[in-house]
Parts: sequence; C-alpha cells; structure tokens
Amino acid sequence: ASRYESVPQPPGDAIFGIVKEFRASTHPSKVNLSIGAYRDDQGQPWVLPVVKKAELQLVQSPSYDHEYLGMEGYAPFVQAASLLVLGKDSKAIKEGRVAAVQTVSGTGAIRLAYEFYKNYRKDAPILLPRPTWPNHPQIAVEAGIKTLEYRYYDAKTKGLDLAGMLEDIKAAPPRSIILLHACAHNPTGVDPTPEQWKQIAEACLSRDLDVFFDIAYQGFASGDLGRDAWAVRHFEERGFELFVAQSFSKNFGLYGERTGALTCVVGSKETAAKVTAQLGRLTRALVSNCPSHGAKIAAVVLNDPALYAEWEDNLQTMSKRIQTMRDQVFDILTKELKTPGDWTHIKNQIGMFSYTGLTKAQCTALRKDRAVFLLDSGRISVAGLNEGNVRYFAESLDWAVR
Ligand code: PMP
Repeated sequence: ASRYESVPQPPGDAIFGIVKEFRASTHPSKVNLSIGAYRDDQGQPWVLPVVKKAELQLVQSPSYDHEYLGMEGYAPFVQAASLLVLGKDSKAIKEGRVAAVQTVSGTGAIRLAYEFYKNYRKDAPILLPRPTWPNHPQIAVEAGIKTLEYRYYDAKTKGLDLAGMLEDIKAAPPRSIILLHACAHNPTGVDPTPEQWKQIAEACLSRDLDVFFDIAYQGFASGDLGRDAWAVRHFEERGFELFVAQSFSKNFGLYGERTGALTCVVGSKETAAKVTAQLGRLTRALVSNCPSHGAKIAAVVLNDPALYAEWEDNLQTMSKRIQTMRDQVFDILTKELKTPGDWTHIKNQIGMFSYTGLTKAQCTALRKDRAVFLLDSGRISVAGLNEGNVRYFAESLDWAVR
C-alpha cells in the first residue's frame, strides 16, 4: 500500500509516445518526423562544428571550473544573449534599460517570466496563440496563471488567420499579457510578414498589452539572425516594454545543456536593475542557479568575432538543409506524383516544423501502414527528412491523401 495510491496516471506525452512507437517499429523504411531536434542528412544528431571547437577551447583553459554561477547567471553569456536578440542598434541596450538573467533554457525562461508576471502583474491572463507549443499552457497551469487564446492558424489557407488574430487581440482584456512566437511558430511553421507584424503591434498597443516573445529558433529559421529577430526589434522600436524568452537549444544544438536567457526591455535604467534583481531572486527560489557548461560555450562563440562568423555559417547549413527538404517534398508531390491538393504551404512555412494539413485518420494510417511517424495534428519535423527518406515520405503522403 502507498499513501500515493490515489495519484492518477497522467496522460502520456503525445510526442514521446510516438517516438516510442518509432523505436519499436521494425519497418525498413521507418521515418521519425515527430521530435523537434535537428538531424543531419544521415538522420543523426549534429554537434555544430563551432560548438565543438568552442567547447574544446573552454575545457582546455586552465581557468575552466565547475563552480556555481550566480543567481543571475554567467554575465558574458547573458549580455551577449540580450545583444543577440535586440541587436546592436537597440536603444534599450544603449540606455541601460535591459533586465536580463540566464535561465534553464527556453522553457525555464518561460517559467521565470510567468513567475514574474504572477508576482508583479497580478491576475493578468496570458493570451496564447491557437495552436501553440503545448508547454506554453502547461507551464501556466503549474505557475497558476490563467490563459486565454487568440486565433492564429487558418486551416483553410494553412497560413496565418491575421483577421482573427487582430480581432481577438483587440477584444482582449486591457493590459493582459500576450505571448508571441518571434519566428518559426511551433507547431505550424506559419509566421507573420513584417507588414503583418506592424498591424499586430498596433493591435497590442490599442489594448495596452504586456508583450512576451518566445524566441526558440533565432538564426535557425531563416539562417539570418537579424531577420529572425525582426519582430522583437520592431516591437522595441515601437516603444513596448518586452519580455523575451531565449532558447539556445536549436541554434547552438545545445539541447541537453539547458542554455537560455530571459531578456527584458523596460522603461528606465532604475527599473531594469530592480527587475534583474527580482528575476535573480525568483531564480534562486526555483533552481538556485543555472547550468554553466552550455552558457560558457555559447559565450565563447558569441563574444569572438571569428567564431561568431563560423556559427552563422553553421546556422546556414541547418536552415538551408531544412529548406531543401521542403523544396524537394513540394517538387516530388507537385511535379512528379501530381498529388491532389495545394502544397505550397510546405514551402512557405518556416523553421523546424510544417503543418501538413493531413487529417488525424491520414496520420494514423501513415504511422500504421507506412511507418511514417508524424503527430496526429499533421505536424512534421522537417529536420527528420533527408536525401535518404524524402522520396519515401513524399510517396507515402501521396498515398495517404489519395
Ligand atoms: N518555445 C518553443 C516554441 C519551442 O519550440 C521550444 C523548444 N521545443 C522552446 C520554447 C524551449 O525549448 P528548450 O527549453 O529546450 O530551450
């Protein structure tokens, strides 16, 4: 007997459940398109060459150690992270109006921001896009924050529902918090254009919203660090105070090292100092301090111009390979197989994921009969495609929709 007998079994994680099915499958052509991690053209995890180099340099340095970082994290990393997302022309940086701390990757940054909002934006709900990364609402539940939704994805066009999004923002409770994916929206791969972002900023201003960006794919989405941060920088220029959750999992391939930061643009230097100190205090209570190894690796790269250039090159390698796979799927479907339907969204969507528009029944059939493991929502991780399986995938998709 156990006093915990009544603890209910939680529902299994949708993504990890499918990974398990993939592992158990003995199909010779099985394809894993479920997990959001970059794979190289052999389907293997890829340690970025620049990360390998920086890591060696780091551990061979006589001063390398495993001491605790402070509550606010590793300063050379945190400062570089803020500069990375806000850019060298940021007025907030020049004026010292940036509060920032290291976090336990992007997830930890989101949790920390929620904790801050809970303390200092009491009772303000957070608006999340529909759909969004399932952890966004899940973390809110654990942090005890109320969530609302705004329309985002239009299943008909497999693109952005801009009108619905603007309408929902303009109807939001004044001064609520809105979470925006800065680039490479997960799970849809659908991003607003700069023109659309301007309208979104306008709508947020009209309701006086607190803006919270989640940027988990800077540089990984388009291959261009500035372009992927465009929305964040535009909102800063428009005068918003901003919170920005930064993940270095994808763009540095540091998944398991839990490397991230929370960068906040606030109204004054004095406020910035207080916000940083509060974020440090909350960090102390949550995790005491963050893992150091990944942050030190990233800091080496971010603060060395030659390594930074090499990193940009590595980002190109990843984003180009993903774009090539999108193009190949599109070409095989439309030019060779003459698959019924419009598949331009496969090419237009950006980043790790694509919302294929397949129905749940089609996804189930793909898993069962073709060993193509994608989520029931029709989301595929494009990074799971490579020269060896892209044709099989396209042919399977064709089979599923006929
Ligand atoms: N936000 C989004 C939208 C993501 O897709 C991810 C990664 N799947 C994260 C945040 C954070 O990931 P991590 O905690 O590994 O940095």
